[in-house]
Amino acid sequence: MPDALRPSRAGAPPINVSFEFFPPKSEEMETALWASIERLAPLNPSFVSVTYGAGGSTRQRTHSTLARLMNETSLKPAAHLTCVGASRSEIDEVVTGYLDIGVRHIVALRGDPPGGIGTAFAAHPDGYSTSTDLVAGVRKIGDFEVSVSAYPEKHPESATFDQDIDVLKAKIDAGATRAITQFFFENDMYLRYLDRVRAKGINIPIVPGLVPVQNFKQTASFAQKTGASVPAWLASRFEGLEEDAATRRLVAAAVAAEQALDLMDRGVQDFHFYTMNKADLVFAICHMLGLRPQPAQKAA
Ligand code: FAD
Repeated sequence: MPDALRPSRAGAPPINVSFEFFPPKSEEMETALWASIERLAPLNPSFVSVTYGAGGSTRQRTHSTLARLMNETSLKPAAHLTCVGASRSEIDEVVTGYLDIGVRHIVALRGDPPGGIGTAFAAHPDGYSTSTDLVAGVRKIGDFEVSVSAYPEKHPESATFDQDIDVLKAKIDAGATRAITQFFFENDMYLRYLDRVRAKGINIPIVPGLVPVQNFKQTASFAQKTGASVPAWLASRFEGLEEDAATRRLVAAAVAAEQALDLMDRGVQDFHFYTMNKADLVFAICHMLGLRPQPAQKAA
């Protein structure tokens, strides 16, 4: 395609973004989170999601963050929820709690094994045993929009891509209407995965989850745990910059922009950002994707 005709250059098409945050552990982190939310909110995201700590460890903090989003902003929050470490009735109580405060979107996940990534998953004896089960349970409780995960490199516990995509299909059959992917750095891989998924008759949005690399070492270590690959070219871009934070930030912005703009040129219009509770890089990428702040829309 001639450069001038690339969507990223020929007047960006309308896009939808969503932002993921994690619940803060301290007052200082809480301040940083809300500064990020205030910076990103004017970009008018389709939704903002709040993660649920491993084993349900952030149950209360996730709930409080969602409650504050509902009370103080006009953003549409989505609550992540996992099956780990709780009975069905305890999880149903969490879901009902969200319903009570007006949250209408759940990101339903199985969660990592209670023994940690790499150990076998064992469901709580009285709990939801799979993400599919959880999707069905959430849908039974209320009229929730339910998003689920998708894995362009397949989930590390899935034996084959076919099995992995069958699980995605089961989650959709149970009521999920959107999938958000694990982060990835090779766009070709995401697009190949999309072809596989579409070939199986799955038509819901499979929104790419993008992680701006704020800290390469940390991202690489997280990627290794979750089965996401880190290409050698990416490592080489950050090589030698361990003591040079300013250049690292510039490289991080360039890498993230390159990935997002390439996806846009290849037809992608929905983007989910793992913000790590930091706004600047995400704001810059969204700006390059054509988004501009809208007038503040505070709740009445
Ligand atoms: P699933 O789709 O449930 O798949 C997990 C494995 O189980 C796969 O190997 C699959 O093949 C197998 N499987 C699932 N259902 C069946 C079935 N019915 N029969 C046979 N096999 C089955 N973790 C958190 O703790 N908190 C979060 O907030 C959180 N948010 C996330 C958001 C996104 C967008 C993503 C991509 C991941 C998130 N995770 C989160 C991580 C996630 O919990 C882990 O990756 C976990 O190991 C898998 O849960 P899942 O729902 O993503 O996977």
